Amino acid sequence: MQKELFVKFVPDYHLHSQFSKDSSAFLEDYCRLASEIGISEIAVTEHFTLYSLDKNFSGFNYSNFIKEVERCRLRFKGQVTIKAGIEIDYHPVFEQKIKEAIKNWDKLDVVIGSIHYVEAKSALKSKIKNKEEAEHFVNNYFRIMEQMIQSGICDIIGHFDVFRRSLGKDFPLKFYLKKAEKILQQAVHRNMALELNTSGFKHGINDIFPNIEIVRMFKKYGGKYITIGSDAHHLEEFAVKQDKAIIAAKTAGFNHISCFEKRQPYLIPL
Ligand SMILES: [Zn+2]
Ligand SMILES: [Zn+2]
Repeated sequence: MQKELFVKFVPDYHLHSQFSKDSSAFLEDYCRLASEIGISEIAVTEHFTLYSLDKNFSGFNYSNFIKEVERCRLRFKGQVTIKAGIEIDYHPVFEQKIKEAIKNWDKLDVVIGSIHYVEAKSALKSKIKNKEEAEHFVNNYFRIMEQMIQSGICDIIGHFDVFRRSLGKDFPLKFYLKKAEKILQQAVHRNMALELNTSGFKHGINDIFPNIEIVRMFKKYGGKYITIGSDAHHLEEFAVKQDKAIIAAKTAGFNHISCFEKRQPYLIPL
């Protein structure tokens, strides 16, 4: 008999709303859409960057953000659970400042750690064709990620191999699998969650971040927590391609995904 292909929706744990400068979406609209299509929980995870050249620089206002989250919680009570989060743009030079900035943000439920820049070069938009340059870039990217994991600042590793956006969709996995192995072991040791991010489908990569082999590896080393996020910046991107991430998670052996409350993970069945 053919396997059941229907995949139900799960919480979307990576969303940008009006508190991220590069988003056109409103939190209230995400909530309405979630309740209409039957997604019972969302985490809105706004950009927090200290890179002065980044579009999102100085765009995040914690107290206004929390006020809006609390207003929407009341409005959608019983329909959608809303978690408050941020997506940190991590780099070791900003580590102390990041720690300082977020230490009093005690209403956050979840913190995604992402790397958007390597030596001031965008991990998302650089066009790197040369093999040596690619190797250098990826090595540095993972060096930064290692420091991010050791810093203990974040709960989730965001879009693990997003540098594929700069290297192209045909960039071979074997090129970074060994490096990934070490990083994943450290992440497991730190009890961190790995995000399955579906934004690669809108950026021509036609895959989730990370590739399923990485998800399998995370499981093999004892990884317990995974989240699924669309990384939506516009309403129409909400929960997009979620089925791809769910299938990858199940194929890699995960029967649960995690949600967070006040920075603590808990599991829900997949
Ligand atoms: Zn990101
Ligand atoms: Zn994002």
